[in-house]
Amino acid sequence: MYPTLTLYIDGHFVEAGDRQTLPVTDPATLERLGDLPCATAQDLDAAVAAAERAFAQWRHSSPMDRSAVLRKTAELLRSRVEAIAHGITRDNGKPLADARAEVLNSAEHVEWHAEECRRIYGRVVPARDPRVRQIVVREPVGVCVAFSPWNFPLGQAIKKVSAAIGAGCTLILKGPEESPSAIVEMARAFHDAGLPPGVFNVVFGQPAEISRRLIESPVVRQVSFTGSVPVGKQLAALAGQHMKRVCMELGGHSPVLVFDDADVDAAASLLARMKTRNAGQVCVSPSRVFVQAGVYERFVARFVEAIGAVQVGHGLDPATQMGPLIHERRLQAVRELVDDATRAGGRLLTGGARLDEAGHFFSPTVIADVPEHARIMREEPFGPVASVVKFERTEQALQVANSVPYGLASYVFTESHKTATQVMNGLEVGMVNINHSGMAHPELPFGGVKDSGIGSEGGTETFDGFLVTKMVTQI
Ligand code: NAD
Repeated sequence: MYPTLTLYIDGHFVEAGDRQTLPVTDPATLERLGDLPCATAQDLDAAVAAAERAFAQWRHSSPMDRSAVLRKTAELLRSRVEAIAHGITRDNGKPLADARAEVLNSAEHVEWHAEECRRIYGRVVPARDPRVRQIVVREPVGVCVAFSPWNFPLGQAIKKVSAAIGAGCTLILKGPEESPSAIVEMARAFHDAGLPPGVFNVVFGQPAEISRRLIESPVVRQVSFTGSVPVGKQLAALAGQHMKRVCMELGGHSPVLVFDDADVDAAASLLARMKTRNAGQVCVSPSRVFVQAGVYERFVARFVEAIGAVQVGHGLDPATQMGPLIHERRLQAVRELVDDATRAGGRLLTGGARLDEAGHFFSPTVIADVPEHARIMREEPFGPVASVVKFERTEQALQVANSVPYGLASYVFTESHKTATQVMNGLEVGMVNINHSGMAHPELPFGGVKDSGIGSEGGTETFDGFLVTKMVTQI
């Protein structure tokens, strides 16, 4: 069932041959699933050359034609949902139902880009001289490179790929080496939908080598990356040296503010589901939970109960609600943060340890009363761990919520319109969810501020990073 892993260059699926390979393993069992070919320097140069050749045509393609290819791709992804989802569960570990949802949500993203790419408008600016016509047009930026992560192997990549293709750009994507099957399936869907050779290319290999060679290529005009803040800063710095545009979707450390007047039970059960989704390996995962004093004890009790009830296991088991972490490094990182938090005085209420399984399982964890100086209050846990802290006043909660360099998502629970407005205005973040979580839809812009990134994916903003502006004035 697990697909053969290939590169995809200039319309060809390229098997390993005598290239170096990387093993791909099931994080739940450590079983070897396949061998991933690593792109050679020649492969990277061939991908860049193919993307450059293809851009000469694709930049002038009709938005209607681009829309048609994107629509067909969405249809193919939907018709192949079972096979693609199965691959994601095997190499990423998430429950099969979540993998299916990821594929269907990805198809929706492609469709959104199919619709929006027909509406990439310019404008006419009234001129001072009646004989003059002034127009502003938006053109595709050129050949783009994208680096996508393993946590939503299809969902993260598809936004970059659809936006580039819809804007009339061409693209080389380095997919995640840990979880590559969905990327190969995505290339197959675009290929079968009739995308011309070279418009979209896929490579894998040593991330640092690939990113340097691609970003330094004079052909490449734009760099987009989803991943950690340190790597994002490194890639943005390299892009800056060569004056290339960037779109960065980086880490988060989402604050949650639960007020005395909130529906505490509803908040606790929603947050437990969100915290354990994808084993907490989600950039918008709620991770710093600030609860007002009047409902603190009740919230903590409900939250611990809900988190403790989450079924952990292999993603192919229908009873599983949470799978393993992606790799040993993540497991170590999460364990160190938990140990540090408890040493600093946090009360471990549930979880806190590696589970007695062959794979990379870590138990869903809640730590209460975590002091502000504990590492976990400043560093993104990127695992199934929530820290809960009491607050008294709104201003105090806002100050602590904003005290980290991250600024991605946030969650607020209150029945007061006044409090909701005050907090919405005061949070230094790219996304605010009030009394629910509703930010993953393609029609909404997804992105962060501060260290969490530059630019948005989705919404009507989705093409901004892939277009340049040209002004024309004519007499
Ligand atoms: P990591 O920093 O080693 O890698 C993160 C991602 O960046 C991986 O996909 C990796 O392949 C890629 N990468 C690393 N070095 C690169 C380079 N020089 N050039 C191009 N790509 C490179 O961390 P990790 O342990 O794999 O993942 C955990 C961290 O990654 C978390 O702390 C989280 O912040 C971040 N992350 C964020 C998202 C997100 O949705 N924003 C997704 C996945 C991972």
